[in-house]
Amino acid sequence: MTAPFLTVADVRLIEQQVNKILRAKLTSTDQKIVTAVRGLAITELKDRLTHVNEDIIKEVEIVEDSIGAELFVQSLKSYTIPFKPVSDKGLQKLFKKDKKLKLPKLETVDWQEISYLSWLDKGTNRQYIVLEKEGEYTALRGVVEAHTPIKGICAICNHHSAVHLFTATVKGNGDNYTSYSNYICEDVQLCNKNVSDYAKLEDFVARNLV
Ligand SMILES: [Zn+2]
Repeated sequence: MTAPFLTVADVRLIEQQVNKILRAKLTSTDQKIVTAVRGLAITELKDRLTHVNEDIIKEVEIVEDSIGAELFVQSLKSYTIPFKPVSDKGLQKLFKKDKKLKLPKLETVDWQEISYLSWLDKGTNRQYIVLEKEGEYTALRGVVEAHTPIKGICAICNHHSAVHLFTATVKGNGDNYTSYSNYICEDVQLCNKNVSDYAKLEDFVARNLV
């Protein structure tokens, strides 16, 4: 069996491209348009996936309906590199400055479905974000505005959705502090479903850590 080579974000990208083809098939009776959309989807996959696998491209070339698409996307699970599970203790270590850290329900997390782990402590309005790459974790903490979310573009997944303002405060030289504010999806699960560019997510975290 092939070793997993797709990130969760790669799988989301494939799913999004497949959905574009299905939408074209549903809305257009012109076969030429469907063929063109399919061609663009395949080009995008070849451009953006780090590892292009001919078997995957072949599947995208022949996908015809939503059941086929669903089975195909499900089949990608065996090639997916999951987020390496982190324990309660591991999280406490990552956020050791938070003496009363409120932990997420890790037992409900599907590690094969997330590009990043995030949760909100509604008591303090603190939002925690954790990334994992090759077993190394990166931790980011910010504060969100407790207002009702507004519609906007999420700085993590780049999709238009219900977002809230996330502010990370970074200590600079001496006593200088700098705050960075970004709108990000309020719904972490939905956001994870939309993350198809892992580098963008990494950039977001890196920008707020500096
Ligand atoms: Zn998002």
